[in-house]
Amino acid sequence: MFLYAINTGYKYTERKRSDDSSVGYERGEIMRRLLNGYYGKVTVVLIVFLMILSIGTSRVQSAEPVDKVEVLVGFNDMSAREQNRGLVRAFGGEIYAEFGIVDVIAARMTPQQASALARNPRVSYIEPDSEVHALAQDVPWGIDRVFGAEDYSFGTWDSSRGAGIGVAVLDTGVDMDHEDLEVVGGRRFYLRGLTLRSDDQYNDVNGHGTHVAGTIAALDNGIGVVGVAPEAKLYAVKVLGDNGSGSVSAIVAGIEWVYNRSDISIINMSLGSSTYSATFENACNRAYSEGILIVSSAGNSGNTEGTGDTVGYPAKYASVVAVAASDINDGRAYFSSTGLDVELIAPGMNIKSTVPDSKYEDGWSGTSMASPHVAGAAALVWGTDPTMTNEEVRGILADTAGDLGLPTEHQGNGLVRADLAVGDDGPVTPVTYTLTIGPSVGGTTDPLEGEYDYESGDEVTLTATANPDYKFDRWVIDGNAVYDSETSITMSKDIRADAYFSLIPDEPGIEPIIEVSTDKVDYSGNTWVYITAKVLDPTNPMPGETVNVVVAPPSGSITSYTGMTDPSGQVVFKYRLLKTSPKGTYNVDASINWEGTTIVDQTFFTVK
Ligand code: CA
Repeated sequence: MFLYAINTGYKYTERKRSDDSSVGYERGEIMRRLLNGYYGKVTVVLIVFLMILSIGTSRVQSAEPVDKVEVLVGFNDMSAREQNRGLVRAFGGEIYAEFGIVDVIAARMTPQQASALARNPRVSYIEPDSEVHALAQDVPWGIDRVFGAEDYSFGTWDSSRGAGIGVAVLDTGVDMDHEDLEVVGGRRFYLRGLTLRSDDQYNDVNGHGTHVAGTIAALDNGIGVVGVAPEAKLYAVKVLGDNGSGSVSAIVAGIEWVYNRSDISIINMSLGSSTYSATFENACNRAYSEGILIVSSAGNSGNTEGTGDTVGYPAKYASVVAVAASDINDGRAYFSSTGLDVELIAPGMNIKSTVPDSKYEDGWSGTSMASPHVAGAAALVWGTDPTMTNEEVRGILADTAGDLGLPTEHQGNGLVRADLAVGDDGPVTPVTYTLTIGPSVGGTTDPLEGEYDYESGDEVTLTATANPDYKFDRWVIDGNAVYDSETSITMSKDIRADAYFSLIPDEPGIEPIIEVSTDKVDYSGNTWVYITAKVLDPTNPMPGETVNVVVAPPSGSITSYTGMTDPSGQVVFKYRLLKTSPKGTYNVDASINWEGTTIVDQTFFTVK
């Protein structure tokens, strides 16, 4: 599909096609198709779109009968530059531009003159200098998305903000005075009359270029929006007119301007055409071979089903990174072009960014909006290491892209991920480890027996408490014995901990004995009886034992005493004998209570 056909509304006729054939072009099918194009579109021929979705049907061109068309004449040997110029002029061509980056002279001539010139062996090809349109959508949702976060991941910016990396926006210009953009330089290239002109009037009127520039590098200044690489150096290369269209010659001149500088690493072209141009491709190849990374919108020519190869140019050129558009649900934007040339996908639906007069607009949709997300990410990657090659940066963007689960023809390598591309792994995802407490006999543990999940780094205190008759023995934690009943562990892996308790053995059996005696055996009359009770284990004295002594006379009431053994294991009681005390035998019992049983010793004395 030739975009100019759609945009001019001009109807081809078979008659004109016949006329074309009658010219008898000799340079093959491409040439024939191109020159068919000249007839089909009497004025300017080929158009590359601004890839804005909303543009499209309004472009109408007058069909004034002009004999001459703008063509790009490719030469086999540019060293013979003067001869080449002479050749073009000899065939009636009016030269309006020449390039150093490609062996091409831009000239205006009639199709018949072009046809004749094309037969010359010095000429490798002739193609129309087609028009190129910008394709088109605060995206702050898109910015979030390419940083892999719901909230804008400023952590990535700790690694790189794209500082010092030059990014040229080849577009409708950029608002030079926008509060949220810092444009460090630029140039305008445009075709007027017979001349490819250039000047410093790269200010944006259309809005497209300003919107694209904001997604790449809107400032992190607390106002407006923010771009992927807020410290990248923005260059505005205005190669599309205020209506969003431009010629291949102007774009190639823009590429050449970038190529001739040393401070620009990235070209973003949110523009495209369905028509191939050898001049355009060669210029891209040349810039790429010199280390410049070129990023472009894949096109807005996709169908709802996402079938067919609809990637446009320059995105389709191998030296250019083709970027498809995704929506907020990580699906393919319904308009996004499809095909195996799609290299990455990036947010391109309902995007907010900067527009002229220090304003902001939401709701822009198009692969034009997707491409600058990738250009910004490339600037971040390059910012981490300016010695990288463009191929390395391109490879990193591809390798770190996130699979959206879409067909390859829709997403290429996947969603561009600036965070991963600069090596920002983002917040550490907590790792869960399991603590297993084994069953225990003779005590309880805290935590109780069971399995518990903890996050990496959590500190857990283990406590073991013995039951009666048991004592804590040890923890065994992953095979290592710990002899403190309370211990702390740090979860850095799955851990098993078992508490061991042991039964307290009975004390060895002690059978105490008690020995009771009186100071004499026989007493008479008025005196004291000294009764001594001694408790032994049975070898050693047992102090502190309670001893009961009962004295039973031959008649009358008994007398009881209670006392405690001294450190020598003895306790002494005094029993009073009167002159009137009955005569006869007095029994003396001494006893202690030992673990529920009574241990007794007996003696006696006599009163005469
Ligand atoms: Ca801002």
